[in-house]
Amino acid sequence: MSDCIFCHIVSGNIPSNKVYEDDDVLAFHDLHPAAPTHVLIIPKKHIASLSEFPVEEEALAGKLLLRIQQIAKELGLQEEGYRVVNNMGELGGQTVHHIHFHLLGGRSLMWPPG
Ligand code: 5GP
Ligand code: ZN
Repeated sequence: MSDCIFCHIVSGNIPSNKVYEDDDVLAFHDLHPAAPTHVLIIPKKHIASLSEFPVEEEALAGKLLLRIQQIAKELGLQEEGYRVVNNMGELGGQTVHHIHFHLLGGRSLMWPPG
């Protein structure tokens, strides 16, 4: 997707502060962190949102979840705890239309969110 900011991050056209990368998954620090640790985990393949995640990509969906687990552990968040968020669509607050999971940690997080 030529107009997708996260596809440009995957291709390296836009720089990012990477924390993890493999053939299918990329994780990088959020530009505007909402917590001491705020990492975005994305599939390299362009998928617009959770609602549009193809059912035939079940293995990729599972891989993303387990990479989040691994990255949280590597960043030292496991003991204190952390939050994983996906914003979907307008009311969900999604602003970048390439699916991403926010991994937030390092402070006490309010629930429910605003
Ligand atoms: P959303 O609101 O779609 O769930 O989250 C999009 C996130 O992407 C926001 O937290 C925002 O700060 C982050 N973001 C937007 N543009 C960039 C960028 O160019 N680089 C990085 N690292 N993060 C970005
Ligand atoms: Zn994209």
